[in-house]
Amino acid sequence: MAGEPQADCLFCKIVAGEVPATIVRETDTTVAFRDINPQAPTHVLVIPKVHHPDAASLATAEPQIAADVLCEARKVAEEDKVDGTGFRIVFNTGTGAGQTVFHAHAHVLGGRGLNWPPG
Ligand code: IMP
Repeated sequence: MAGEPQADCLFCKIVAGEVPATIVRETDTTVAFRDINPQAPTHVLVIPKVHHPDAASLATAEPQIAADVLCEARKVAEEDKVDGTGFRIVFNTGTGAGQTVFHAHAHVLGGRGLNWPPG
């Protein structure tokens, strides 16, 4: 059922505390933790606690929680002090866009120059 924890989902296991993560923020609806393979000095993933396979599905099913993820991404950037120089919020959506974990997540990237287009 949409939103329910999935037994085979890595990020559901992080939400449940079954897989360790370096958690930087947590709210009633979201968890933010450092990416295990950082691509920038700040690389934090913000995820909803509910399971949806990608950000588009989350936004359709639970738009308020999608907004919570976005607000938390901004707070992560503020706390890591990358908001002044600029940061990037990325939602890879689908395998063709590089999505590898099918639980909605925002990447918050900052602390170095970020090129455009991203490739
Ligand atoms: P995607 O490619 O947009 O789906 O992003 C998935 C991200 O999850 C990648 O940047 C991975 O490095 C990251 N990742 C995978 N496993 C873990 C973990 O156990 N802890 C933290 N980050 C992870």
